[in-house]
Amino acid sequence: MNDPASFALFGDPIAQSLSPPMHHSAFVEMGLTASYTAYRVKDAAEVVRQIRESGIRGASITIPLKETVMALLDEVDANAAAIGAVNTIVNRDGRLAGYNTDGPGLARDLEDWIGIRGKTFVILGAGGAARAAVFTLIQGGGTAVVVNRTVERAAALAESFGCRWGLPAEIGRLEADCLINTTPLGMFPDTDRTPLKDQLLVHFQQVMDMIYNPVRTRLLREAEAAGCAVRSGVGMFVHQGAEQIRLWTGMEPPRERMRQTVMERLGGHSGD
Ligand code: NAP
Repeated sequence: MNDPASFALFGDPIAQSLSPPMHHSAFVEMGLTASYTAYRVKDAAEVVRQIRESGIRGASITIPLKETVMALLDEVDANAAAIGAVNTIVNRDGRLAGYNTDGPGLARDLEDWIGIRGKTFVILGAGGAARAAVFTLIQGGGTAVVVNRTVERAAALAESFGCRWGLPAEIGRLEADCLINTTPLGMFPDTDRTPLKDQLLVHFQQVMDMIYNPVRTRLLREAEAAGCAVRSGVGMFVHQGAEQIRLWTGMEPPRERMRQTVMERLGGHSGD
């Protein structure tokens, strides 16, 4: 990679994002003279214009741009197209390609933890993160059951990937190993909220929360009290960011350094 290279984050809001310090610490450790700047942008056309005009080599894409930016790219990787969202753009000499690293980030974290093949996962939520999760779990040989507040969205997601869905009231009767929360309930600053009654947690051996701020959400604290093994969203977040750096540079990033940076910012230990 030619130095110096510029990378960027586009989205709104972006003030709370831990991607800038995480990516910066990775570039320093890799010995790359590279910048990573966060831009508060809501308009997908503006993202594409800025990447081209400023010669930005690679970008992270977050809320609310993950879906809208897809149509403006020169190519979209097949996995990102199946998920229906792009969180990473690579600029190859002016040709913009879109990828989704949320799926690979989740897969890597689950493989480090409990594995995917042969396991059944209940996915709470039916938004972009849930789509990435269902796609990834099925690809990895797992089984996914989608449960969401808006039942029609659960059914539509399940239909597009050929998996099961259930009603929120049925959750205690679904036979599953692991629950994965993909809703934002419990995320800072609304840390008193939780997506599931604690009595229902005993039905799962493992509970993962995609939220990483706070590291121990109310859901995870209650799951631990119910005897479940728990996993925060920190590992997935680090791995999705590391996969971005691999796509941009072709180099393997220092994942442990990235995790340390995130944990320092969150002021705790992930315990994962
Ligand atoms: P999204 O597209 O907005 O989807 C959110 C989902 O949560 C929807 O299905 C929504 O249900 C449900 N929901 C929202 N408020 C709810 C409430 N009060 N009660 C019940 N359900 C509710 O968001 P997303 O992009 O999928 O992201 C979801 C979460 O995943 C965020 O917290 C994000 O930070 C996290 N995430 C983490 C990582 C990581 O690396 N750790 C990566 C990606 C995302 P309805 O369909 O009924 O509206």
